[in-house]
Amino acid sequence: MKDSLYAHLPIGLQNLACTFVGWQLARARFTPYFHRCLEEWEASGAGSVEGLHRIQQRRLERIVDRARRYVPYYRRLDLPPAYVSRDPADAIARTLAQLPVLEKTTYRDHAESFLAEDIPRRRLHRGRTSGTTGSALPLWYTPEALAEEYATVWRLRRSLGVSLSDPHLSFGGKLIVPLRQEAPPFWRTNAHGSQTLFSLYHMSPDRLPAYVDAIHDSSARYVQGYPSSLHLVGRAMLEAGRPLPKGRLKAVFPSSESLLAFHRETIEAAFGAPIGDRYGTSELAVSMTGCAEGHLHVDMEFGIVEVEVVQETDTTVAGPLLVTGLGNDATPFLRYRIGDTGTRLKGPCPCGRPGDVFLDVDGRVEDVVLTPEGNAVGRLDHIFKDQLDVAEAQILQDSAEAIRVLVVRRPSYGEASERGLVKEIRSRLGSRIEIAIEPVDEIPREPNGKFRAVKSSAGRQTA
Ligand SMILES: [Zn+2]
Repeated sequence: MKDSLYAHLPIGLQNLACTFVGWQLARARFTPYFHRCLEEWEASGAGSVEGLHRIQQRRLERIVDRARRYVPYYRRLDLPPAYVSRDPADAIARTLAQLPVLEKTTYRDHAESFLAEDIPRRRLHRGRTSGTTGSALPLWYTPEALAEEYATVWRLRRSLGVSLSDPHLSFGGKLIVPLRQEAPPFWRTNAHGSQTLFSLYHMSPDRLPAYVDAIHDSSARYVQGYPSSLHLVGRAMLEAGRPLPKGRLKAVFPSSESLLAFHRETIEAAFGAPIGDRYGTSELAVSMTGCAEGHLHVDMEFGIVEVEVVQETDTTVAGPLLVTGLGNDATPFLRYRIGDTGTRLKGPCPCGRPGDVFLDVDGRVEDVVLTPEGNAVGRLDHIFKDQLDVAEAQILQDSAEAIRVLVVRRPSYGEASERGLVKEIRSRLGSRIEIAIEPVDEIPREPNGKFRAVKSSAGRQTA
């Protein structure tokens, strides 16, 4: 539906429109193939490592074969066929070892030649990467690849006790409440999916109490959405002394943005439920899902993750990730250097789930900040983790000489907080960089509704 028409409908009809779109989405997502994957993978995920390796071996063989036959880029490279062995782990390792590493720049320059020729274009869904560099890459997915990714999502959700029909709250980027609306409700309902969709574009301090009321009034069993928005509303709940009682929700599922260090505690405390963590990328070549130990398990049926080891201890290896997607026939990504790094456990996870498991993955969604000394510093969201007087903050940088820090202050914010903040920043960025702290009422979101902790045009040019 046209946005302009939607914006002029009465709220009741907007709810109906949301319900209709929800019904369409559900029909596209909950396909027979999705249900089959979910059922099979719930069984394989609770099985043995050997069983998972056998599935990987079979699917890797198939995707390599498809790449050789139908994908112009790979056909030109004249890839060898998959290595045959009775030992699945050995076959996987040897097959991967004979494939070249794929760089993002290679895909960017030849995207069309990664598109399999045997699938009619009208069957394919279009997507794009959400890189911070501003140069989004085109992507293509088969409906089966989307269903498989959705199966990894729902395997995680069901492992936390959530079921497909549970009522839930969504904090996504869609503009579902017209911007000119100034009074509640700042949410709409999709009755078909038992879903309440909250607007991310009306979350000013004077309106957040209405969100808190609505959350308390709902019968939702889980919450999903952008972590920055869940954090914002979670903080409002805590500041009003109104967290949800523990156990009322089964889980909270952050999506689309990285869960930053300072988000987690607030969200779990406010919603009284554990976070169901997931790492995935728009290339649909990797998926990892969280466990009770706080680790990320590779969804082995969906993709293979290798680590280019740059650091090793007795128990872990760490370095850039190479991912191989096993499910997207439209554009196979083989040993793709995705741009994220991770730390993998050498042994099994104490939680008992079989397969590869990571302590953490650093999705480089934030820009790095440059210093006058020439350092490039990432993961600056950690600065704000312990700044209790700072409600929200964003670092902006145009040149290596200086940064601006936009700060939404809590009532407790004072001179000491500011000194502490500057000290914390200096501990990471050094003594030479100029730091300007600027108090603001709110941090603007990106056009897609996402929050960015660090925006550095200077750092982006070097990344
Ligand atoms: Zn685990």
